[in-house]
Amino acid sequence: MRSLVLTGPRSLEWQDRPAPRLSAGGDALVRPIASSACDLDRRLVVSPAPFETPFALGHEAVGEIVDLADGDSALRVGQRVVIPWHISCGTCENCRRGLPGACASVPRLASYGTSIGGRWGGLFDELVRVPWAQYNLTPLPPAIEPFLAASAADNLTDAFQAVRPTLDAHPDAEVLVVGGTASLGLLAVLSAVALGAANVTYFDVDEGRCAKAAAAGATVTTADEYPDRLDGTFDLVVDASAASAGFRCALLSTRPGGTCVIRSIYFGEPRLPYFSLYGTGVNLVIGPPHAGPHVPDVLKLLGDRTLDPSPILAGPYSYDDAVEVLLDPPSAKPVFTRPDAR
Ligand SMILES: [Zn+2]
Ligand SMILES: [Zn+2]
Repeated sequence: MRSLVLTGPRSLEWQDRPAPRLSAGGDALVRPIASSACDLDRRLVVSPAPFETPFALGHEAVGEIVDLADGDSALRVGQRVVIPWHISCGTCENCRRGLPGACASVPRLASYGTSIGGRWGGLFDELVRVPWAQYNLTPLPPAIEPFLAASAADNLTDAFQAVRPTLDAHPDAEVLVVGGTASLGLLAVLSAVALGAANVTYFDVDEGRCAKAAAAGATVTTADEYPDRLDGTFDLVVDASAASAGFRCALLSTRPGGTCVIRSIYFGEPRLPYFSLYGTGVNLVIGPPHAGPHVPDVLKLLGDRTLDPSPILAGPYSYDDAVEVLLDPPSAKPVFTRPDAR
């Protein structure tokens, strides 16, 4: 089968690799039919560290079930499903606590499309093995286009779950999203608006993304660089900047007693402005996103069109063009689909 492999910085190629097989009870073989680039993929293509190359890229997809190890599975061959980024068992203590991204049955951060917790294949590949399939896979309702749902595997659900707990508890919460990557911050804006947030502010250093956030219903502020803090009384701040100055700005812009959700991935250890925060009682929530359990709720909003990520997406592109597109990505989030998924 064809596998899209990152072999080093800006070195991406299709390789012929042995197809995965069913190897344990609970396994499914799934053929990705719509795959999107996570914001992290754009960084990995340029600079894969700390992930050791080569590895198959891609961890956001909708796929079609090709084979199942268990005859009595509630899943069925031919079904379209969202494949979450994380590999998780569903039964360990962390999975039972709703933290499948911290599953104790697999190496730390085991996922598709990286190499840090083992090699599980990538979701641009023609076929992947999904262990504990019944726990991990969420059936896609037929009315929802795979193109729109691919990112529910990671960024879309990540953004949704960054804002939902606070908005459920405090529907009037003032929300600030500190953007900086292609899709995550904008998806957080769309999610907050879909969940009924009355006050959503978006800050970014990129004018194009600011325009999209404004169109999505946010009040927008912009500057050439991240300020120390933004004026406002923000109950919930989402850091989607992937910049250490954005991290600082997000933390210092959170009102006393508020919640700051870090959805950026920092490979290093960004400095925490500890004394500046001392006395504020700010709650800090750190990733990774535990996508799987929340995918059904995201699909519900996609199904009734309360949430429409299409302004944030680019494509659909052919998988045949994946190398070219991922090496020189559009400003929006690229989605690749197979002809039978269009
Ligand atoms: Zn990701
Ligand atoms: Zn587990």
